[in-house]
Amino acid sequence: MEGAIANIDVGLLKKYDRPGPRYTSYPTAPLFTPAFTADDFRREIIATNTPDASPDLSLYFHFPFCDTLCYFCGCTMLVTRDRKRIEEYNGYLQKEMALVAPLIAPHRQATQLHWGGGTPSYLSPDQIVSIAGAIRAAFPIAADAEASVEIDPRELARPHLEALRQAGFNRMSMGIQDFDPHVQAAVNRVQPPEVSRQVYTWARELGFTSVNLDLMYGLPFQTLASFERTVHDIIAYDADRIAVFNYAHVPWLKPHQRLIRPEDLPSPELKLDMLKMTIEMLTQNGYEYIGMDHFAKPDDELSRARAARTLYRNFQGYSTRAGADLYGFGMSSISHFRNVYAQNTKNLPEYYRALDAGRHATHLGYRMTGDDHLRKFVIMRLMCDLELEFATVEQKFRIDFLKVFARALEELKPLASDGLVELSDSGIRVVGPGRLLLRNIAMCFDAYLERLTREKPIFSRTV
Ligand code: SF4
Repeated sequence: MEGAIANIDVGLLKKYDRPGPRYTSYPTAPLFTPAFTADDFRREIIATNTPDASPDLSLYFHFPFCDTLCYFCGCTMLVTRDRKRIEEYNGYLQKEMALVAPLIAPHRQATQLHWGGGTPSYLSPDQIVSIAGAIRAAFPIAADAEASVEIDPRELARPHLEALRQAGFNRMSMGIQDFDPHVQAAVNRVQPPEVSRQVYTWARELGFTSVNLDLMYGLPFQTLASFERTVHDIIAYDADRIAVFNYAHVPWLKPHQRLIRPEDLPSPELKLDMLKMTIEMLTQNGYEYIGMDHFAKPDDELSRARAARTLYRNFQGYSTRAGADLYGFGMSSISHFRNVYAQNTKNLPEYYRALDAGRHATHLGYRMTGDDHLRKFVIMRLMCDLELEFATVEQKFRIDFLKVFARALEELKPLASDGLVELSDSGIRVVGPGRLLLRNIAMCFDAYLERLTREKPIFSRTV
């Protein structure tokens, strides 16, 4: 099977386990700067309305609220039991849409809609219907739009999913992480298997066409045997997609992770064994390895997009719709189109203050150079297609690949010797264990990595 990865050499993975970006964007977020302002953002939106611009929009909405804190959480979220805060926040999302939508040519429609968090399913069914209606009123949504939502099955009832289906959502992603009660207690996310199963069953009954389940390895008290049981149980769900994330213990970035005791974490060797076991079990049970933590059934759109070379990476990971301009709404959300990245403030009062003053809540941003576009293309194609023809890049960017990327190709040589890539006169092909080390391969083409990592650790580890 094409998606199978056989005979994983754990020693080799260990050799390449180092801090590195996930390349959901290039350049990566640490390059974003406050020099890019709300006024810049406004001007850039207006400038997108040219006849040659992509008519498609991708809309991301960030819902930060959760009712409890999972200690492993790496998201931008706020814990609250006060549901009035959600109401207030949704009001500000509408203010933000009212600021952005009039700047975008009205014929442009959203082909992609994503609600992330936090916990979007923490909204009540009425709140779901109401904010979804406001989004549709502000932006035309294509009839065949890919509309996905992140779900936390705890405290969720069937009416939540009914409201989401009514709002047009056809995909969902549900966090499971681990079925073991001991592990769940240690990360403060107690989620009985019957709760997850019930929500999954509702999702199927209600006609969600693609369901993704998230697992996480590297959590406290996980053992090879316990995680094997979790993987075994998840296979029985028969989900369309499974994502298996490596827990990134970065308490210097996420102070609440100090609630996890380092001595309870599995060793790096054990984590690699868990990764190997997971990949082998999933690929032997009908899933294709897409890349970077993601697995999908061969008939899922993700697998088909990979085969058709239309796979793309964005802030949600792999995506099947390339070319749309991304607009992010809500605190911390990121927009990306043409030459710019623009990120809203992560500070909720600041987000509210900006919108009250009639300003975009842009806090950081970045203006891409020609070299950034070139490197972004190379990195994205390698991570999505697992190969790159030099001629394609040379034609698209009018460069001499061997000359421009002489240093990157030199850096790739040891990876080629270790059997991660094949280098030829005409291109690069990711092979064997290289598929598990895509970040390391991409890092050779990153012009900023050395500068960014010289002073302090800012990225999670690659394996
Ligand atoms: S539910 Fe999700 S976003 Fe909220 S704390 Fe848990 S992992 Fe973080």
